[in-house]
Amino acid sequence: MSAAINLQTLHFVSDEEAGGPDLGVFNPSDGSLIATVGTYDANGLDELIQAAETARHEWACRTAQQRSEIMRRWHQLILENVEELAELITLECGKPLAESRTEVSYGASFIEWFAEEGKRGYGEVIPSHHPDKRIVTLRQPVGTCAAITPWNFPVAMITRKVAPALAAGCSIVVKPAEATPLSALYLEYLAHRAGIPADLFRAAPCADPAMAGEVFCRHPLVRKLSFTGSTRVGRILMRQAAQQITRVSLELGGNAPFIVFEDADLDAAVDGAMAAKFRNAGQTCVCANRILVHAEVHDAFVAKLSDSVANLKMGDGREPAVSIGPLIDASAVTRVSGLIKDALARGATVSTGGNAIGAFVEPTVLTGVTSEMAIVHSEVFGPVAPILRFNNEAEAVRIANDTPYGLAAYLYSRNLGRVWRVMEALDYGMVAVNDGALSTEVAPFGGVKQSGFGREGSRHGLDEYLEIKYCMLGGIGDRAATA
Ligand code: ADP
Repeated sequence: MSAAINLQTLHFVSDEEAGGPDLGVFNPSDGSLIATVGTYDANGLDELIQAAETARHEWACRTAQQRSEIMRRWHQLILENVEELAELITLECGKPLAESRTEVSYGASFIEWFAEEGKRGYGEVIPSHHPDKRIVTLRQPVGTCAAITPWNFPVAMITRKVAPALAAGCSIVVKPAEATPLSALYLEYLAHRAGIPADLFRAAPCADPAMAGEVFCRHPLVRKLSFTGSTRVGRILMRQAAQQITRVSLELGGNAPFIVFEDADLDAAVDGAMAAKFRNAGQTCVCANRILVHAEVHDAFVAKLSDSVANLKMGDGREPAVSIGPLIDASAVTRVSGLIKDALARGATVSTGGNAIGAFVEPTVLTGVTSEMAIVHSEVFGPVAPILRFNNEAEAVRIANDTPYGLAAYLYSRNLGRVWRVMEALDYGMVAVNDGALSTEVAPFGGVKQSGFGREGSRHGLDEYLEIKYCMLGGIGDRAATA
């Protein structure tokens, strides 16, 4: 491998320790083997969970300030190793290096944010209903947590679960995606170097994800499961979590509308669409999935967007100037080209791109897309922009909400009244207005409907890892006597 990174520093668990079969990790650009990692079987995971349960008590007894100092060291170490971590992300997930670097700083930002926010896990004193009683609430760590994360943001999807868990005083075992265990192991290595106790946070690659989900859900010590991935798997996990009434947070699939009204700044809308559609070759859950354009500006928008898309450079993410990497694997290429073929068969037209070449799908713009086409109802997860035409605001909102998903939505308009009306009418957990990028550690990320529930980032992200304990103090006595 060409990366400067020293894979020897990672904690590759041995077969005796972890029990599972070895897992090959491949570069999606050319299919070459990057490394082989050991994996955990059910017994191995069980041991990690038990060790995490022991570790969390000592951690929770530390002050928030002490936890914060160690987390900030972890944050600093990640920033000091941005190049190594970015190379690893690009190697195992394929995204261009510039995007990987951005992911590293975005991922690290959750650690810094929650290191601070952990100091503000306030309880409250509630005015009592009785002169002899007092009411307070404590906010206490949920306990030992588990997380299952996807391959598309192999660093950030982990830190935005681990950081609030640790800040709240919990322990956490993370099962990374099979395609991207190396970034997870590197994060773990840096965390332990920073002083985070080894058993408190473990990255646990598994060859059998269904087994991991079952272990996490049936284990009585696991009090919370946080999942980012498909709605299909989210549904399985929610059902399994019923056994122990395990708390769950689910960040699932999306079908983001990107609405361009006739009063939009078209150049800004094209820039926003490029960012919202083509980041990570379209493989993010908040990627614009359907671009809805008002009939009056449709042709002008398509021309400008197609020009920009035709200029994107496709290739291995480690090459300079590449902005579109490969899809994660061959089945993703087959699925995305199937969506293009279905759209063309039902009357859509290619404005630019349209072909699959090896591990890559050309950045593509399709026009004449209608709701009869599969691409409108599927999460595309590829660099294909389907454009639908609409005639008025009500029609745009109706099309936008016509999906079981509700993660992110985007709208472009300079009309303040319209912005408010549409922002309120969109059935989504997040709405970006006149902007194509909404992810930040300071804001609550999450969905509604079949896109899941729970919020990551912002002060709300900490709540996911805290329980409220209501305490009643009786027998206070007669305050009037001491007044
Ligand atoms: P994607 O299509 O993005 O890969 P998945 O939902 O399949 O989405 O994968 C997200 C994460 O869920 C990965 O870590 C994967 O290993 C894990 N996963 C897949 N199937 C299951 C399952 N049955 N139970 C628990 N986790 C699973």
